[in-house]
Amino acid sequence: MTNIVLFGPPGAGKGTQADIIKDKYNLIHISTGDVFRYNIKNETDLGKKAKSYIDQGALVPDEVTIDMLAKEVDKHLADANGFIFDGFPRTEAQAKALDSLMQEKETQVNAMIALEVDDEVLVQRLLERGKTSGRADDADEDVIRNRIKVYYNETAILKNYFQAQDKFYGIDGVGSVQEITSRISEVMNKL
Ligand code: AMP
Repeated sequence: MTNIVLFGPPGAGKGTQADIIKDKYNLIHISTGDVFRYNIKNETDLGKKAKSYIDQGALVPDEVTIDMLAKEVDKHLADANGFIFDGFPRTEAQAKALDSLMQEKETQVNAMIALEVDDEVLVQRLLERGKTSGRADDADEDVIRNRIKVYYNETAILKNYFQAQDKFYGIDGVGSVQEITSRISEVMNKL
């Protein structure tokens, strides 16, 4: 199995790239944000727990998120060639939980691939996306800026966590979709 963490701030292009890379390498794409949004739309218990955090651009508590992620992995494990984790982990507790989960499944995270993009470019991209995404958290500039702040305060530190395991690959996240796919592919082909 090849398991990848696609990393980067909100608006870096993780979802767009994960969609392409999953087909190219036959991987299962798990976006924790997408799973939360699906649950909010369907008014499940999980959706109810997550909604207020997401609306503010804050992180959903680790316990809720980790539990959900483990269930998503279990759903797909039998026929998976590997996973792309998009938007997970976002805290050190989540990173540790992912390591244990992978170990339990007798596999591992092979790489964290980080898309690097300047903050002002992110804000502009998210405001643009907000016009069509239907996501409340893309429509409000204060919420967007809060999500970016949360990324720097709580999530960016995970670079060190994966660097310490020699698994961190940073790539330039500015360019055409195709250019960025080929930068990611260069890393994937080395694994
Ligand atoms: P995303 O689609 O990855 O931008 O995520 C949208 C929102 O879902 C985030 O702003 C968080 O509120 C929540 N979320 C997604 N993934 C996680 C995670 N791994 N940990 C905590 N909250 C998350």
